[in-house]
Amino acid sequence: MSPLLEVTSLDVDFAGRPAVRDVSLTVERGEVLGLVGESGSGKSVTALSVLGLLPGNATARGSIRLDGTELLGASERVLTGIRGDRVAMVFQDPLSAFTPVHRIGDQIAEAVRAHRDTGREQARRRAVELLDLVGIPEPELRSRAFPHEFSGGMRQRAMIAMAMAGEPDLILADEPTTALDVTIQAQILDVLRTARRETGAAVLLVSHDLGVIAGMADRVAVMRDGRVVEQGPAPDVFHRPREPYTRQLLAAVPRIDTAREPRPAGGEPVLRVRGLTRTFPVLKGTVVKRRTGTVYAVDGVDLDIRRGETLALVGESGSGKSTTLFELLELAAPEGGTVELFGQRLGGLGRAAVKDLRRRIQIVFQDPMASLDPRMPVGDIVAEPLRTQGADRATVARRVAGLLTQVGLDPAHADRFPHEFSGGQRQRIGIARALSVAPELLVLDEPVSALDVSVQAEVLDLLRRLKEELGLAYLFVSHDLSVVRNIADRVSVVYLGRTVEAGPVDEVFARPRHPYTQALLSAVPLPDPERERARQRSRILLAGDPPSPTRRYDGCRFRTRCPLYTALTVDEQKRCAHDVPAFEGDGVACHFPRVREVL
Ligand code: SF4
Repeated sequence: MSPLLEVTSLDVDFAGRPAVRDVSLTVERGEVLGLVGESGSGKSVTALSVLGLLPGNATARGSIRLDGTELLGASERVLTGIRGDRVAMVFQDPLSAFTPVHRIGDQIAEAVRAHRDTGREQARRRAVELLDLVGIPEPELRSRAFPHEFSGGMRQRAMIAMAMAGEPDLILADEPTTALDVTIQAQILDVLRTARRETGAAVLLVSHDLGVIAGMADRVAVMRDGRVVEQGPAPDVFHRPREPYTRQLLAAVPRIDTAREPRPAGGEPVLRVRGLTRTFPVLKGTVVKRRTGTVYAVDGVDLDIRRGETLALVGESGSGKSTTLFELLELAAPEGGTVELFGQRLGGLGRAAVKDLRRRIQIVFQDPMASLDPRMPVGDIVAEPLRTQGADRATVARRVAGLLTQVGLDPAHADRFPHEFSGGQRQRIGIARALSVAPELLVLDEPVSALDVSVQAEVLDLLRRLKEELGLAYLFVSHDLSVVRNIADRVSVVYLGRTVEAGPVDEVFARPRHPYTQALLSAVPLPDPERERARQRSRILLAGDPPSPTRRYDGCRFRTRCPLYTALTVDEQKRCAHDVPAFEGDGVACHFPRVREVL
């Protein structure tokens, strides 16, 4: 029997520039092929070629056969017939798959009718059934919602429901969970497994995340620079890679399940935050704005960092991580709670003291391109904070050359502009700039999340080395728990604006006590097919999305999603519902903490 999908010697050029070269791969009926690679490897272009969805300036050569039918060069009529019916697509951005002015249920029902000869009412009922199958709560009611009324995770579920509506033979999933938080990612991957089981479809899964691929794929193809460098059964590729590039890629992935060497405790306190709060008004009206509510963005964050220590602040979108950072960098009295920086309490400090603190705490942003002025040569970018501090010309010239060398860049390139550097090099420029005024505390806001895994490993090595050499302390903000295990000494977990657990990173990761920390860690996929499949059986899947930060909650704010809550006695549940769990030191904000090993 011929394979369901057979790609042979595929070449794709964009305006004459090669993007994919000589790619040959097959997808058998019912199997999951994982297509993995770093940015620019050609994996998404390969997937888009299958459905003839390449942009107008692309030319493709070779052959793409679906069940023996040639798709490359097929007419738009043939391709339209295949899209949705035989091949369904799940994109990274689900909004692009839905028409904003039509209700979700109607759009899915339409997809059902396009595939089956069925009446309107029956198609509508099938749409509700599919929404239920992908875990949308109150599917009947939600089927009448518009796409913008769904959260990112719910839209992704709805898109999978839409993909299932056509009962396709093949689902193309292009980075389907990349924009999602890790607990939502775990839900969506579970839904994708359900879709595969229910429809019997094969899946071509494109991802840069080796953990996601390990948990889903039967076979794996590794791409680099437009070519497939290795392919084979998932266990072989992960455990016995033949190609040096695959080995290099696997070695660069930070592992959440691997402890680092124990490190000596830090020195004197650098930062001490207690009960930090920050609210924002919710305003309505175009001309006359009136306050209609409050966003409780930060609502009880505690942090402790000592000299020479890296504290990771982890949490999902909307947990208040970024607001916490900006509150600290304001160097003003917080709205609520206290902040002590180098032993000085913020609020009421003189200008000279604030200026001194501004030098001692510096920030490195996530997106180096957005944080570096594109019109300035990098030498000037690095020199700017020094000049602001009043350094003379000779000092500036000497320091800039030294700093560029220190971060692994060539000082001879000081007159080049940011766009002439790669993503990793630009992040090094951001680090050099932050170091120029000899700070003692570096705030690193998702510093490696925009980078490919091999570049990410180099930047993490650089940060570790600089910390040793300069005796720095880091506040490392990240949503990536594998990176956190790799770099941090201690970790502080926040949920909906509040610290829920903190402690030494190896202790918290090996023996988490808060149910939210357990769910977060359990959701992270491991780049190991056997272990990942075994973990799927015991994975803690949180229900729904985090609740809105515009509401005040009595008792524990994790209650609505807490997997422990339903197993508690009525009296215990009452306690969770009425008393806010206290947090102190290296503690846990839960009334009934219990260790559960999840890695
Ligand atoms: S206090 Fe209760 S609801 Fe909150 S995390 Fe602990 S067990 Fe769950």
